Amino acid sequence: MDLNMKEHIAAKISEADMVLVGIGEELDQIRTIKKNDAYIQLCNKIESTWLFPFLKGLLVEEQMKEGKEIYQNLFHILDKKNYFIVSTCQDGLVKYGGFDLERIVEPCGGYSMLQCSEGCSTGLYPVSKEFISQIREAISGERNEKDLEQPICPKCGKPLVFNNVDTEKYIEEGYLKNWMTYKKWLQGTVNKKLCILELGVGMNYPSVIRWPFEKITFYNQKAEFFRVHSRLYQISEEIKDRGHGICQEPEDFIRELSNTF
Ligand SMILES: [Zn+2]
Repeated sequence: MDLNMKEHIAAKISEADMVLVGIGEELDQIRTIKKNDAYIQLCNKIESTWLFPFLKGLLVEEQMKEGKEIYQNLFHILDKKNYFIVSTCQDGLVKYGGFDLERIVEPCGGYSMLQCSEGCSTGLYPVSKEFISQIREAISGERNEKDLEQPICPKCGKPLVFNNVDTEKYIEEGYLKNWMTYKKWLQGTVNKKLCILELGVGMNYPSVIRWPFEKITFYNQKAEFFRVHSRLYQISEEIKDRGHGICQEPEDFIRELSNTF
């Protein structure tokens, strides 16, 4: 990103009444985990046991320190603004930036809550830190896997699984309340100076962020849209005058931009 663009974005954020932020798969630490050697090795070891899905949850926990910095930088940019964040990442790291949690929605779920694998009720159950550390011990061999009890649904006795979009019977109640808040917030952007930052959003779930953000930009004449992606940064013809495509790793973009604030 060149200096002019950086200053332009910083100015647009400063003068905006509201800032809408979309965060997508390029920033999802789950992606990095899947390529991690230790993860691949462990996968082979426990693939056939019930512990397997919990491995990802465990690694998300361990990855947190590195991932948090991105969001602390983003918070530095958005602090004191009227913002809302939509994230399709499943690593849950956005929650650690310092943001008001009522201003974040994660429609794809993540690895902090469990649900019934059969979807027998809308009940969601937190994953305790203690359970995660027991899993860690079982995977490393310090504890016998048989001493661990697989979490089961208190209503029907079927196994509990992580509450995210990869689950066959995904319980959407985990994010719906904040989704309503988001919809209301969006209604309030009409005729307001709106700055939109779309960070690392590809084509995994285009109907959640990518397409709606383009539409909002098209209809709100006072909106300015910045799409940041290492490959899919292109802007459609209809919003070319108020839309900018920036070819950059979103992580670097956030770091550079936060230095100007
Ligand atoms: Zn159940």
